[in-house]
Amino acid sequence: MWESNVRKVVPYVPGEQPKISKLIKLNTNENPYPPSPRVSERLSNLNVSDFRKYPAPDCEILREALAKKYNLETDNVFVGVGSDDVLAVAFLTYFNSKKPILFPDVTYSFYDVWADTFNIPYETIPLNEDFSINPGDYFKENGGVVIANPNAPTGLYLGIDGIEAVLAANPDSVVIVDEAYIDFGGESALKFIDKYENLLVVQTFSKSRSMAGMRIGFAMGCKKIIKYLSDVKFSINSYTMNMPSLELGVLAVEDDEYFVSCCKKVISTREWTKGELARLGFTFPDSMTNFIFVKYNGDKSRDHIAAELRKRGIIVRCFNSDRTKEYMRISIGTDDEMKTLISALEEILYA
Ligand SMILES: *Cc1c(COP(=O)(O)O)cnc(C)c1O
Repeated sequence: MWESNVRKVVPYVPGEQPKISKLIKLNTNENPYPPSPRVSERLSNLNVSDFRKYPAPDCEILREALAKKYNLETDNVFVGVGSDDVLAVAFLTYFNSKKPILFPDVTYSFYDVWADTFNIPYETIPLNEDFSINPGDYFKENGGVVIANPNAPTGLYLGIDGIEAVLAANPDSVVIVDEAYIDFGGESALKFIDKYENLLVVQTFSKSRSMAGMRIGFAMGCKKIIKYLSDVKFSINSYTMNMPSLELGVLAVEDDEYFVSCCKKVISTREWTKGELARLGFTFPDSMTNFIFVKYNGDKSRDHIAAELRKRGIIVRCFNSDRTKEYMRISIGTDDEMKTLISALEEILYA
């Protein structure tokens, strides 16, 4: 009967990482460009003998580098093993009420999984018909609010005034703004952290900083809110970040010029891809991310198109809720990859 006492969960299912080489992988929003050259240089100089020792539990060098980049103090910054780790610890830390936390019905599909895992009650708020967020829907009693901005998988960005309205209406709960895609064109809510103590801004190295494989995420907020997060982290695992992630993460943050140029390339490829997809008869919310959430309005089904792309070595991500089952999420790759995608689509749709 031991199983009756087990915590039973339905886990999040991440996009696949196939072992096939030469694939055009447009399914998990990874960056098509490598990290800063400073990262590989530092990697070749890492002293393996230092692996004997535990890494720094306070992750200070990386928090300091991020603080410098964003004009903050080190104690305004928390780092974790990808933003998934940061968000999980944040849910556990801040959502300790019997009132439901609120997040959109179409959003990052890990939020309900963490809520279920930690027994946090939640209520999903339907997005508008066009997938936009109506800030006014979050002006009601709750145990916390989580908004991905830009939202995933829709790609839509909610103006910073909308975020501020949600913050101002919720002084009694923590508002987490998940900014995994903010570097692709939106304005961060970071400027509100002095004004609203209840704000936690979460970002990641996985998309705009080309380091999904290193697993680095971070959160920024007032010192008090960061202290609560840090206390919970130190109550679970002191040594979350490994030594290479800390060292290489610093180098990636410091090379701002390289980072900005990669983001610009992705944005320009995205805008070109939007034009091409529209020409082929796809409609999509206007993306401010490194992916486009598309629906085909002709006589071919989403599943047919995705399967045909796959036969041609191109993989995209499909979700299957009532509101997302006709859409494909296509990550932005290099210019060449997107050209290949468009030719493949032309073949599939018009052959
Ligand atoms: C990718 C993503 C994350 C998680 O990223 P990590 O790789 O864990 O840093 C979190 N939130 C959203 C909305 C994402 O798309």
